[in-house]
Amino acid sequence: MQSFINKVIGILSLEQQREYSNTAVMGGLNRFTKFIQENAPDTGIDPSDISLLVTLFNRYSSLPVDFRQTMVSACLEWLRGKPFEIRLSLPGLEEIIDFQNENFDRKITNNKEKSKSPNQDRALYGDIKSIRGIGEKNSKYFIKLGMHTIYDMLRYFPRRYQDFSKLKTINRLEYGDELSVIGTLTHDLYTRNAKRGTLKITEATLGDSTGTIKLTWFNQPYLSTQLGKGSAIVVSGKVDIYLGRLVMNSPDWESLDRQQLHTNRIVPMYPLTSGLTNRQLRKIIHQNLPFWSQRVQEYLPQVILDSEKLPGITDAIKQIHFPETSQSLEESRRRFAFEEIFFLQLGVLTQKNQWASRSAEKYPLSETEFQNSANSLPYTLTGDQVSAIRDILSDLGSGHAMNRLLQGDVGSGKTVVAKFAILAVIQNGAQAAVMAPTSILAEQHYRTLTELLTSDSLIQPDEIALLIGSTSSKDRAEIMQKLSDGSIKVIVGTHALIEAPVEFKHLQLAVIDEQHRFGVSQRAILQEKGNSPHLLVMTATPIPRSLALTVYGDLDVSTITEMPPGRKPVETQLIPPNQRDTAHKMIADQINAGFQAFIVYPLVESEDEEDDFKAAVNEYERLKKEVFPTLQVGLMHGRLKPADKDKVMMDFRNGDYDILVSTTVIEVGVDIPRATIVLIEGANRFGLAQLHQIRGRVGRNGESAYCLLIPEDESALENKRLSVMIATTDGFKLAEYDLNQRGPGEFLGTRQSGYVGLRFSSITDTPLIEKCRKYAKLIFEEDPSFDQPEHQLMKEQLQNFWPGIKFITNK
Ligand code: ADP
Ligand code: MG
Repeated sequence: MQSFINKVIGILSLEQQREYSNTAVMGGLNRFTKFIQENAPDTGIDPSDISLLVTLFNRYSSLPVDFRQTMVSACLEWLRGKPFEIRLSLPGLEEIIDFQNENFDRKITNNKEKSKSPNQDRALYGDIKSIRGIGEKNSKYFIKLGMHTIYDMLRYFPRRYQDFSKLKTINRLEYGDELSVIGTLTHDLYTRNAKRGTLKITEATLGDSTGTIKLTWFNQPYLSTQLGKGSAIVVSGKVDIYLGRLVMNSPDWESLDRQQLHTNRIVPMYPLTSGLTNRQLRKIIHQNLPFWSQRVQEYLPQVILDSEKLPGITDAIKQIHFPETSQSLEESRRRFAFEEIFFLQLGVLTQKNQWASRSAEKYPLSETEFQNSANSLPYTLTGDQVSAIRDILSDLGSGHAMNRLLQGDVGSGKTVVAKFAILAVIQNGAQAAVMAPTSILAEQHYRTLTELLTSDSLIQPDEIALLIGSTSSKDRAEIMQKLSDGSIKVIVGTHALIEAPVEFKHLQLAVIDEQHRFGVSQRAILQEKGNSPHLLVMTATPIPRSLALTVYGDLDVSTITEMPPGRKPVETQLIPPNQRDTAHKMIADQINAGFQAFIVYPLVESEDEEDDFKAAVNEYERLKKEVFPTLQVGLMHGRLKPADKDKVMMDFRNGDYDILVSTTVIEVGVDIPRATIVLIEGANRFGLAQLHQIRGRVGRNGESAYCLLIPEDESALENKRLSVMIATTDGFKLAEYDLNQRGPGEFLGTRQSGYVGLRFSSITDTPLIEKCRKYAKLIFEEDPSFDQPEHQLMKEQLQNFWPGIKFITNK
């Protein structure tokens, strides 16, 4: 027997020296199985252990290196005198065998396929029930948690961690410590009933060479069957005080001679569902992790991993579940954060390329035509306006559908930019539609565009029309008719444009103003009214660059930062609530000078909406009667029908009111030329970007204008935030500040849906976003539809990350 065992030990030691290269036996270790089968039975070794040996040697060549290592050391330990522990002592070993038995045939076929298309091992997408520890009975919990496949389980990451990696001796424990203690139980457990109620309290005393501490568990009397005097354990938890002595209540514990999952390490805490405990989940994941994480093939390009110094996927998965150190956890998180943003960028670029790959009709505008039209304007275009127009004209002439976002601060002159797009399209015989979020804005655009376009005399007044909710049915019918026969070239309107069964003869340009007010779906409906029309969306809500790259990552972006010359910045003041009179006095002064004022109240989201509404109306009544009794005060509130809101706004613009009290945010983009002062009550409730929008309502006519901010109280912190409004009139800076202070919620709006999956990264992490964008672009330049074999795994992972994503097909 000894010679047989020595021979096997010799081979395995050699294999160890040769770093598991399967060279200890000529032709591979599987050649040795015959020798085992022939000689082992005579030695008296348990037949089941022989078959285990045979299996291991047989399958050795197909094992990844670290399994070879596990297997060889396990065998050596066993052969050197720890018999019969082989199957129990090493997690991982059984998995090898389980897997080999269950999936061997499947894997062989997979291996063959793999050489053609290197996708993830199909076994990873196998049913969660097929792994160790999960069966018919408990699989339902896993499914409930979203783990359908083995790969889902690998990617079911802990929500947080308890760092029990800190160890102390008992004499050094302090109240409040969260850590692990190693010791031996000095007595058997003792269970008693609590003085009141049915609670059972189990007590133990843990001792080490420095002292003892009491441990207490509640309603776990069965612990006495698992623990007793002399049990060497490690406990983890929080050190508490009871009756002046240090204790640990309901600590997690594990036997010292086993590998520790729940104590003495950074312990993963998973999101759970009832019926499944963290202990159970940890055990199952830990059991399966070594084997299955090894099956996951790297899907990120190696060059990226190298230059970003990111850990490989197998390591990252292992460390995110059971981190060895806080650094390795950090590294792993860094990799997953990178992945999230990287796939997000790949996703938006894919969408963008999909759009761009659709061919569209060309609508060129010659340089002379451009110059002539620019010269006929009553002002000179700013440099930013010119470059935005050039961007657009080059899109329109490219033969691919334009998808461009034009962003520019309030009053930066976006409308005239849109005019050039419209011009290019209509003078080549097609139609354009302009959609605005409110009637009043639509009407404003209609007037401006009519003026701009007819002055070119390229269009007759009856070739441009307005379609809004209040358009009479007679006019509506006529407009419909003229849109379908093509005699209307430009239509300006609201939702009515997409709601009504409007048929266009040849819609080739859709312009959408104040994009954030519309959902992506509405944009899509308008586009569908045409045959692959060009799209221009405009927004005055500046989006910080980091966000724009992601939120509008599927659009090309042109930005106007320069204001038309001669614009005076709105003078902004922060006024404490107790000096409200000063503010009212300033308003009165402006009105005396022949101007108009806004007073804006925040929309307070209180329990009782009715109360809010009443409070605002009362405030309006009070202002009208007591503060400004001689002035005309109008009221605009959220409960008005859109048509009534429009009427109030128009009356205000026509000068029927001196002051407009608004309980809702004043419509974006509306032009009230005589308004020079706005007072914002409860200013702390608004985002800076929003305040900036409201401020943009005044001083649109070159007059000196004022914005007065009154916060609800004198909270220093809020006032500091508001003082940024005074310091800058740059909408982008304000947006950036808001983003840092309040997060991206305000900017995302209806486009949010695609970005909820971010767990490790932040959508505001500009350096990361730009880096990922750069890598994603490089990949795109080379292989836009991910056809190359080395991109197959990445493509598959992108589909996991972004289900339903469509890749470019018609190249
Ligand atoms: P917004 O970007 O907020 O939509 P508008 O297009 O409404 O801005 O323009 C605001 C005002 O600025 C309009 O009255 C417009 O006529 C004027 N304007 C636009 N461009 C210029 C320019 N280059 N020089 C002077 N005034 C301009
Ligand atoms: Mg505008």
